[in-house]
Amino acid sequence: MQSSGARRNGIRRKRELRTIQVMIRMYCRRHHADSGVRLCHECAALFDYAMRRLELCVFGDAKPTCANCTVHCYSAEKREQIREIMKWAGPRMLFRYPLLAVFHLLDGRRPAPRLPAKQARHSGRDPHSSRSGNH
Ligand SMILES: [Zn+2]
Repeated sequence: MQSSGARRNGIRRKRELRTIQVMIRMYCRRHHADSGVRLCHECAALFDYAMRRLELCVFGDAKPTCANCTVHCYSAEKREQIREIMKWAGPRMLFRYPLLAVFHLLDGRRPAPRLPAKQARHSGRDPHSSRSGNH
């Protein structure tokens, strides 16, 4: 796999990561955490997972928001979790982090780009499922 241009520093991806982080933190604080400072174990794991997915995203910085993406690289379970969190935190974020929220909405409007042909051909199977084997 060529990795030369793949790792441009993506503003969009950073923003999405930050958005996810904020959302998870808000959600966790309200729903699980007792301390209020740290994420609970489950949410920390979810964020870690999201971070890694984002890092490996085949679209690079052209990526749509994850909710909009054509490649569903989250496992079904994690996707449910993150969807739940975004549904809850999305509207609340508008008040506390209006700028992030607005960008997130704008990003969400972008149509998902199509996969580059080369990668598309590769994916007889889900390209992500085999790679994430070990923990
Ligand atoms: Zn939590």
